[in-house]
Amino acid sequence: MTDLLIIGAGPAGLTAAIYGLRGGLKVMVLKGPYGLGQLALTNDVENFPGFIEPLSGFEIMDKMEKQAVRLGAEFITETVESIDASKRPFTVKTDAGAYEAKAIIVATGSHARWLGIEGEKEYRGRGVSACATCDGFFFKGKDVVVVGGGNTAFEDALFLSKICKSVTLVHRRDEFRAAQRTIEIVKAEPKIKMKLFYVAEKVEGDVLGVTGLKIRNVNDNSVETLPCQGIFVAVGGVPQTDFLKSAGVELLPGGQVKVNERCETNIPGLYAAGDCADAHFRQAIIAAGTGAKAAVEAINHINLN
Ligand code: NAP
Repeated sequence: MTDLLIIGAGPAGLTAAIYGLRGGLKVMVLKGPYGLGQLALTNDVENFPGFIEPLSGFEIMDKMEKQAVRLGAEFITETVESIDASKRPFTVKTDAGAYEAKAIIVATGSHARWLGIEGEKEYRGRGVSACATCDGFFFKGKDVVVVGGGNTAFEDALFLSKICKSVTLVHRRDEFRAAQRTIEIVKAEPKIKMKLFYVAEKVEGDVLGVTGLKIRNVNDNSVETLPCQGIFVAVGGVPQTDFLKSAGVELLPGGQVKVNERCETNIPGLYAAGDCADAHFRQAIIAAGTGAKAAVEAINHINLN
């Protein structure tokens, strides 16, 4: 039994933990198998205030976790399977046990979106990856392709350009969601080429792994194959909220938890913060901010009930 149970240990979950603990609550954080969230997989973070020089996402998350531990957070590495919201306290069932809590903050973030093209699943882990930071080193001196036009794709392309022989960024149009500064740095990097107005159509490979990516031009439908040994898919994220459906938590069409400006869901005492409830910003600093909001509301809820 705990006061506040937080599901997820990314920027939203850990900020919520810090605020909850400072509000006098007993706080338990359920950490998924991948630990500290997506930010921990980012290389150089330059837009999180308080750090003069760029810091790795892992360093920022490690500091946040240590801060939460210092204040008294209890961490458990288990995966949540369901929440019983029919009575109070809530019961949260995991793959290893069950926990009771007076309030819950869901801060489960999002996981990588895949393209769903032929060969992608077959070659996952054998040349196809959604994490350049984790897998880039396996492609040292090789030719790789990055698919996507957002910050992740551009930062992955830059990261890989320091390790790989060549990087080709494939994007379906000639406008990008990435930050202008990052776009300019990528454009100036001679090892990175761009194939614009192309979509990925098929992962080609042999028994040893990936040998190429077949792409199609969206304007004239012409196809070609980019010879490569690695393909990094960076086409956004999917919120990790499926386990909330059985609890009756209202979700948006994109799968994000539906919350109001106070991070309240349709279930009193159950809050959501960070990327799992954000279809728009998906920034670490905003995730941290919503984590703080959710915790302030949870403290009030517990104190008044
Ligand atoms: P994103 O911003 O949603 O970009 C996804 C990209 O993938 C878009 O260019 C999109 O193309 C493309 N795409 C989506 N589905 C596709 C498909 N089926 N086939 C081909 N292309 C597809 O995702 P993200 O780059 O992962 O970033 C997620 C969030 O994290 C964003 O808010 C981003 O700003 C943030 N982030 C920030 C930083 C930073 O600040 N340093 C670093 C990484 C991520 P269209 O543009 O044509 O839709």
